[in-house]
Amino acid sequence: MTAPVVILVEPQLAENIGMTARAMANFGLSELRLVAPKNGWPKKGVREAASGATYVLDGAKVYATLPEAIGDLHCVLATTARERGQMKRVFAPEDAMTAVAERIGRGERVGLMFGRERVGLSNDEVSLADAIVTFPVTEEFPSLNLAQAVLLMGYEWRRAAGLATLRFSGELLSPPATREALLSLFASLEETLTGAGFYPPEKREIIARNMRDMLHRMAMTEQDVRTFRGALRALSRRGPKGEEP
Ligand code: SAH
Repeated sequence: MTAPVVILVEPQLAENIGMTARAMANFGLSELRLVAPKNGWPKKGVREAASGATYVLDGAKVYATLPEAIGDLHCVLATTARERGQMKRVFAPEDAMTAVAERIGRGERVGLMFGRERVGLSNDEVSLADAIVTFPVTEEFPSLNLAQAVLLMGYEWRRAAGLATLRFSGELLSPPATREALLSLFASLEETLTGAGFYPPEKREIIARNMRDMLHRMAMTEQDVRTFRGALRALSRRGPKGEEP
């Protein structure tokens, strides 16, 4: 599936552009467009900040103006921390990305616009977008770092596009114990405890039920049951070392 294009409007700091490239690579975005980067392009230190994601920087295209940078796109979203007083729809990132994934699925090209570190996007620039995306941040500190804003949008894109599968899982864990294995563990435990004189006779049933409940709460795996049984066997050995009762 193609992914949205990231457009940085007059970005200033090499660190932010590099970290933007890295964030994009993390979540499967690769097309970066820079509108009139401040103090020229390429910038010193940008490759270091990108870590290994230099292919995103190598493919980055530089444009003189925003209209040129978005000319070929079918849908453009402007990200902003500030209310713009414009008659424009405002979306939370996940809702915006659900719509973006649908449009991309129909073969459309979508761009995500990010503003300058100091002053964000101008109202004129926002007015070129179809809609606004804003993050659910605190009232006291609403402004995100530029590359972190790209990172969050990348993450939401990946989720909305159904690509957010974990790279590894805990499947090497032992499978859950079968009821048969558990019931036989309960029988051994209760037999061992009876042999050790643990139960007051009148309370045997209630204590046994409580202990079964404790063990159920552990959600034991097959391996857990084997380990527990081994421990019980070791504890119930009497006499010289290793000799079974
Ligand atoms: N001081 C600027 C913020 C610049 S942060 C201002 O007040 O607008 C750089 C860019 O990151 C912003 O232009 C925007 O594209 C994005 N960004 C930062 N915080 C954001 C937020 N809370 N919601 C959406 N985008 C945000």
